[in-house]
Amino acid sequence: AAASVGMAIVFVAIGVWLSWRPENEANDEFVAAIRNGEFIPYYQPVMDIESKRVRGCEVLMRWRRPNGMIVSPGQFMAYAENNGHIFDMTRHMMRVASEEIGPLYGENPDFKLSINLFAGHFLDREIVSDIKAIFERSEISYQQIVVEVTERHPLEDMDLARKIMAELQAMGVRVALDDVGTGHGGMAYLQKLGVDIIKIDKMFIDSISSDDSSTTIVDSMVELADNLGMGIIAEGVEEEEQIERLLELGVTAAQGYYFAAPMAANDFIEYAATMEEE
Ligand code: C2E
Ligand code: CA
Ligand code: CA
Ligand code: CA
Repeated sequence: AAASVGMAIVFVAIGVWLSWRPENEANDEFVAAIRNGEFIPYYQPVMDIESKRVRGCEVLMRWRRPNGMIVSPGQFMAYAENNGHIFDMTRHMMRVASEEIGPLYGENPDFKLSINLFAGHFLDREIVSDIKAIFERSEISYQQIVVEVTERHPLEDMDLARKIMAELQAMGVRVALDDVGTGHGGMAYLQKLGVDIIKIDKMFIDSISSDDSSTTIVDSMVELADNLGMGIIAEGVEEEEQIERLLELGVTAAQGYYFAAPMAANDFIEYAATMEEE
């Protein structure tokens, strides 16, 4: 009997080992990729619609595999967030961005740099010290930084989130609410969080030239932003027609494939120089 109990324990142990091993290996691979610097920033220009000049960019993470393949955040961001890797990755992203495009931002003090944060960043003051440590001596000033918080995931501690945002705002950093109209927050977020900028989701921009209700929604967002003294940026602009509608509605800042897709640092620097000349 003792032998069979022993065998059972061995089988259970092997079963447990097998079931956690693949996940563990996947995690090891992910951690190795972080250490190898495989997660890199791409930059999507944010444009002034009227002047067609660059106002800055949004930093969007990419996984550049050793074979050169570029993987989008849809494939790895949830994993990074659920396993707590996102904190290291965000620090790395900010550090690389400050090195790669610092000189460009030094030359263009009005350029803004948007950084995506996730809900977990607003549960801990560490993000404030991270931003200080990375940008204190960088050519990118706090006044040039915008942190984006998405409405897609709920903020668990609204009071703490508000305090962290206020601390950042006191340094000169601006706060943008991302994906407005798609998620949890809605009007309550705008009121409670005191955000500086709202980003209109692509969902509304997609149908803005054909669908009256989308136009009405964007129109009321513009009015709300004006009344609350907030800036507004349209996301995912792909067509000339959408640009025309946005101008009619009084939106002056936009990003999207119509202008440019996210790109590597050297391409963004070149893009900014080209647009400056025109
Ligand atoms: P997001 O912050 O809403 O970023 C906008 C997404 O729309 C980006 O997808 C961008 O490439 C895409 N996009 C921009 N213009 C157009 C357009 O005209 N048409 C279309 N079809 N798409 C457009 P991306 O880069 O795949 O990022 C997806 C999401 O992943 C982001 O959505 C953001 O929530 C998250 N993400 C990206 N980088 C980071 C990061 O560094 N940290 C965190 N926490 N999240 C990130
Ligand atoms: Ca310049
Ligand atoms: Ca964003
Ligand atoms: Ca968005």
